[in-house]
Amino acid sequence: MDLMQSKESDNFIRPPIITIMGHVDHGKTSLLDYIRKTKVAEKEAGGITQSIGAYQILHKTRKITFIDTPGHAAFTKMRLRGGRAADIVVLVVSVVDGVQPQTKESISIIKETKTPLIVALNKSDLPGANPEKVKKELAESDVLVETWGGDVISCEVSAKTGLGVDKLIESIVTLADLIELKANPNGDLEGLIIESRLDQKKGPLFTGIVKNGTLRVGLEVYSSKAQGKVKALVSYNGEQLKEALPGDPVEVLGFSHAPRVGDVFVDIKNKDLVELSDGSGAAKGGFASGVDTCNVILKADTEGSLEALEYSIDELIKDNLPIRIISKSTGDVNESDVLMAESSKAVILGFNSKVPGKVLDLSENLKVKVKTYKIIYELIETLKDVIAELMYKEEVKVKGRAQVLQTFTLASGDIVAGSKVLAGSIKNISRVSVFREGIEQPVYTGKVKSVRRGRDEVSSVGRDNDCGILLKPVFKDIKPQDIIEVI
Ligand code: GDP
Repeated sequence: MDLMQSKESDNFIRPPIITIMGHVDHGKTSLLDYIRKTKVAEKEAGGITQSIGAYQILHKTRKITFIDTPGHAAFTKMRLRGGRAADIVVLVVSVVDGVQPQTKESISIIKETKTPLIVALNKSDLPGANPEKVKKELAESDVLVETWGGDVISCEVSAKTGLGVDKLIESIVTLADLIELKANPNGDLEGLIIESRLDQKKGPLFTGIVKNGTLRVGLEVYSSKAQGKVKALVSYNGEQLKEALPGDPVEVLGFSHAPRVGDVFVDIKNKDLVELSDGSGAAKGGFASGVDTCNVILKADTEGSLEALEYSIDELIKDNLPIRIISKSTGDVNESDVLMAESSKAVILGFNSKVPGKVLDLSENLKVKVKTYKIIYELIETLKDVIAELMYKEEVKVKGRAQVLQTFTLASGDIVAGSKVLAGSIKNISRVSVFREGIEQPVYTGKVKSVRRGRDEVSSVGRDNDCGILLKPVFKDIKPQDIIEVI
C-alpha cells in the first residue's frame, strides 16, 4: 500500500455493519422490517423483490448496512470464519418480557467478540412496559446502560409504532463514529460472505459485504471453497451495479459453486490472505491446518479457573500438541457454544460449568461432544486422550462414562456404585467395563443391572447427573474414582 492510498484510507469511513440479536419474539424481525420499510427510499424499496440477506439505509448523509438474518447460527458461523461479522450489535430486549435465555446468550457472544453494543428496549408501546426493570436485569447480566453507571447506549423503541427508531439509528451513527470504521476503497479487496446459495436460474451466488477495497464486475475473486470471475453485482434493491464499496452489501454472481457462509473473499491475486483471515484455514498458533488439530471451546465457572485452564492447555500446546482454543468464556455451556462447536468441529470442555438439559439435547442432536469436569487435571488428561485418539485417526465416541464417587452394599448383597455420569448416558442394560487409574486393562466387564436416581429405578441417566449403578455380576471390588464405561 503506498502513501497516497493510506492517506485516502484515512478519509474513507465505511458504513457500519449492524447485526440484530436477542431472544425469540422480542421483535428482531419486526425492527428490521420497520427500518427497511421506513428508511429505504420508496423507489428503492419497490425494487426489493427478494432479500439478499442485508440491506442498506441512508440516514441523512450516512449509510448503514443491516444484516437481516437475525439468529445465533449465522452470527456464530460468521464470527468463527471471517472474524467479526458486525461492527455493532443491536441487542433487542422486550420491555415486557425482560432478559431471557437467548438475551444472555447474545450477551455472551457480544462480549466474547468484543463487539460494540446498543440495547433496543423494544415493545415500549405496550402497557406492561417496564424499561427500568429490564435495565436492572441487563446490569445483572453485566450490561451496564448509561443510566446504570455504564456506557452502553439504550433506546426505548417500538418496532410496531416506530417510536424511538430514529433515536436508535442516531445512536448507531454516534457509536459508529466512535469506533471509526476506516477502509480504503483503493486497497486490497476483502469481503465477508454472509449468504450463499445455488439459484435455479442464476447459478451459484452469494451475498458479500465489502470490508475493504472495491469489488468490481470482471474481477477474479477467491474464497477458500469457491472462486470465480464476477459476472454481475446486484444491490439489495435489485439494481445492477458495476462496483461495491466498503460497507456495501451486494449479491455476487459468477462463482464456480456456492461458497461457504462466513468465509472471506479477496482478489485472487491475494489468495494467500484468505489463509490468514479465514478461521477454517491454518491456525494462528502455528499448527498445520486440517483435521488433526483438536479445536476446543473452553467454559469455566470463573475467570480465574478459565485462566488456569488456559495456562494448562498452553503448556500442552508448547509441547506441540495440536490444540486450538477457538473460544473461551465463563458460565454454563449454552446453545451458541454448541452451534459454534458444530461449525468448527470442536469439543466443548467445561470446568465446573453446567450443561442445561436443552443444551445437552442440542449437543446430542448435533453430535457435539461436551465434557465437563471438576478437576483441571482430569480435563487435561481427557484432552490428551482425545488428541491421542485424533492422532491415531480413531473416532472418539463415548457412549456412556460415569465415575464412582462412593459405594455401599445392600442387604441383597448387591453393591451400589454411587456415580456421576461424565459423558453420554448410562442405561440399565448397557454392557460396561470398569477402569481404574494406573491400570490399562479393564478391572471388570459386565452389565448394568439397574440404574437408580434416588430410590427410583430409571432406564437411563444422562451426563452430569448423579446416580446409583448396580452391576451384574456383582463387582465386589468396585471403588471410588473407578470409571464405568459403556462398551
Ligand atoms: P423475533 O422473533 O425477535 O424476530 O420477533 P418478531 O419480530 O417476530 O416479533 C414477535 C412478535 O412481537 C410479533 O407478533 C410482533 O408483531 C410483535 N412485536 C414486535 N415488536 C413489537 C413492538 O414494538 N410492539 C408490539 N406491540 N409488538 C411487537
